[in-house]
This record gives sequence, C-alpha cells and structure tokens, in this order.
Amino acid sequence: MTARALVLTYHRIADGRDPLQQCVSPERFAAHLDALADVAEVVPLADVEQPGSGRRIAITFDDGYRDNATAAAPLLRAAGAPATFFVPARILADPTEFWWDRLEHAHLDDPPSVPTLLVAIAGTEVRVDIRDAAGVYRSLKTLNRRLRSLPTATIAEVVGQVEAQLGTGRGSCTAHALLSAGDIAELGADPLFEIGAHGTTHTMLTALTAEEQRDEVVAARTALEQAVGTAVTSFAYPYGTPESFDTTTLGLVEDAGYERACRNTGGAADAARERYRLARHMVYDWTGDELARHVRGWFAAA
Ligand SMILES: [Zn+2]
Repeated sequence: MTARALVLTYHRIADGRDPLQQCVSPERFAAHLDALADVAEVVPLADVEQPGSGRRIAITFDDGYRDNATAAAPLLRAAGAPATFFVPARILADPTEFWWDRLEHAHLDDPPSVPTLLVAIAGTEVRVDIRDAAGVYRSLKTLNRRLRSLPTATIAEVVGQVEAQLGTGRGSCTAHALLSAGDIAELGADPLFEIGAHGTTHTMLTALTAEEQRDEVVAARTALEQAVGTAVTSFAYPYGTPESFDTTTLGLVEDAGYERACRNTGGAADAARERYRLARHMVYDWTGDELARHVRGWFAAA
C-alpha cells in the first residue's frame, strides 16, 4: 500500500547548542516548508484522517518551547502551513526548564570539575568517566536514556545528584524557555494552528499507575481547554517511543475525549487502524532537499 498521509515531529526551531538533536534552524525550517509544498499537501493533523487521494503531510511540534511561537509560527503563517503544537499542560503555570535541559546546563555550561560522575538511578549505580568531551556527551546521553522511563520524582532526585557534583551551570536560559499561557492562547486562537496535549508533567505514562495516567491525561485536556478556549482533541504521548504507552493508556486517552493520539515512531499515519497511536516521523536539522528525500522514501516505504 502506498501511504497517503504522514505526520512530522519537530521540537525546537532554533540555532545554537543542541546535544540532543532537537533543533532545526529557522533557515532550514523555512526550506523544509518550501520542500514539503512540492511533495505533498500540508494539512491540519485532523485531516490525515480524511480518505483523500493526494499525498498529505501534517506538521507537529512537541514539548512547547517558546521558539515554536517566536520562530516557527511566523514561518508557518508565511507559508500558510497548518501545525499542531503539543504542550505539556504544566507549562501554563510552571516555566521551569525540562529535566533534560537542566542536565545539559550541568554538563556543558562549565567544564566538569570532577573526573567521574557517579549517580544512583533507582538503586543502580551509574558511573561515567567525564574527563573529556566525548565522556561528557556520553554521560548526557546515558542519563537521558535511563531517566526518561522513570517517575518525575525519581528523575528530579537524580538530576539533583548530578547538579550536586557538576553544578547547575546557568541553570536556565532563553534558548530553553517554554511557551507562556499567553503564547499558548495566541497560537490556539490562530485558525491555522491547533494546541494539542502532551501530558501534564511530560512523565512517561507507563511509569504511572492507571489512576495517575488518567489524571495526567484528563488534567492536561481541562487545563489547555481553559487556556485556549476551544476543544483540545489531539494528544501526543510524552516521549512517544513504543514503551511510552500501552493498551491501558490508549483506552484512557480515548475515554478522556481525545479524538486522536500520536506516537513518535515512523510509518504511515493510518487513522483507520491506529487512531490512538498515529505514527510520526522525527525531523532533524536537514536541508530542504534532504527532507524531501526522506519524505519521498517514507511515502514509498509505508
Ligand atoms: Zn536552559
């Protein structure tokens, strides 16, 4: 079968330090929008469900970084391209940087003053040699991989151990700033854009009990609907990896009134079979030509 619809995932539209490969530069994002217009019709996320005939692509953003409003939105408007912004609802009230950005500050703002990082993660000792830059990046990557599937309190405790050994660096910065409630309301009021929910605290839902998962999923919808003033009907699983949700999660998201939910693993967006686990392709800091090549391959492979 030839795929008719794909969904793309972006995180940040920014230049600068990017150890986790979350950024596409504004110049390249503009080139992406040009390239996408040549290979498919860019449609709102809800329209990938329509049984149309042409190739369609929906653009989404995860995590609610402020550059979504300041850098991405103006380029999307100029191109007339719709997009969905998936936001963890806690950022409406709490502008604290994400834990992975705090780890970036602790590791990269200043050269480490200790040769080894030693942390206990849920009872397991993790020791990383951080005497050179490669070790520092390895530490950052290892912590990201091992912490993401843990409950928020455990992650905070480990980040505390890291900051106690490496310092906090600058601790926070404009590059990692998050959308304000005002930004979210403004994006949501633009007919080109949709605000979707990305959990409340961005905890991996499978780290939680069913009751806690329900709270995350329902509270996110309530809070974002209050902020935006319209129905919030799309959900994206925090992290979106295969272990980020299970059949319990899918049922809770549907029961909470969402009409669709997205994962972050590739494939065709098949709403008929996978309405609550729509595939998405991650996009990296590629040129417009590189993105077009990937998109043609994804359409052909699905
Ligand atoms: Zn920061």
